[in-house]
Amino acid sequence: MKSVMYGLLATLCTAAYAHTDAPPAPSASHVEYSSMPDPGKWVQMGGIMPSAVKTTRDPLTASFTYGCARQLTFVPGFSVARFGSETVSLSQPVMYYDGDLFVSKEDVPIIRPMLQVRPAPRKTDPPQPRAAQRKTLVVIDPGHGGRDTGAIANGLLEKDINISIARALKQLLEAKGYQVKLTRSDDRFIELDDRPDVANRCQADFLISIHANSERTGSITGIETFYCGNDSRQFAGIIQQSVADHAAVDSRGTKSGRLRVLRYANCPAVLVEVGFMSNRGEARRLADPDYQKRLAAGIANGLAKYISRND
Ligand code: ZN
Repeated sequence: MKSVMYGLLATLCTAAYAHTDAPPAPSASHVEYSSMPDPGKWVQMGGIMPSAVKTTRDPLTASFTYGCARQLTFVPGFSVARFGSETVSLSQPVMYYDGDLFVSKEDVPIIRPMLQVRPAPRKTDPPQPRAAQRKTLVVIDPGHGGRDTGAIANGLLEKDINISIARALKQLLEAKGYQVKLTRSDDRFIELDDRPDVANRCQADFLISIHANSERTGSITGIETFYCGNDSRQFAGIIQQSVADHAAVDSRGTKSGRLRVLRYANCPAVLVEVGFMSNRGEARRLADPDYQKRLAAGIANGLAKYISRND
């Protein structure tokens, strides 16, 4: 033990342990102290180092090594530290007591900066444009939710139809490799203006809002797609045609409308009215999961077609 200590001393120290102002109550080994060091003069290492710093203790040499930006090693009883390849002199020998190392308060300003963990390397390259970094991001907005049921007809609540189709659409879009976010993934109320906000906050590439229609006579059927602004016009046209084809249903065409969910979106945005719940036959189809999947497939394939055309 002793020869190891002195071996280490030879490599570590330039100044011998020869302080006249020695720490209190040293044990015979100069390593372990039998009573708690005076907290007015001594500071526990555990109290001054960042939690990310890993401590290892070599039982053979009794040395403490701290894994910081560079390795910092102390040997109890000695007033030097090794910091990487440097030797750093301390005003007092460090002390070992009750499982931790104690250093003189005077030395804390020297020791603390050495305990910093390596800072994250700074990126010198400018950030890549978002489109080059990640997948196409589609926000799906199932209309209504929570206390806002949307239309009620033929035993159906519009909010339920909307979320079912949205979930099917999410699955299909993810299978195509797109990233998908829903404005609501369960039955909850969302303010109208929060819906385009979701898309804007995550810098979505597309916003697709899903609704179902209702009217008094019960005779009207078919789908229609709303858009707001010329940017979304072609997008709406392709979605509308694709949904009509997949669902084999009457197309009522696209309509320009200053709907809030579309107007405030920063990306191409459409609102698909997937059918009339007020028509008995169409209501039955809208409640059928297979039909919902066909509607979703129409939207998903329409989006893929629009993207491939505009690449
Ligand atoms: Zn609606």
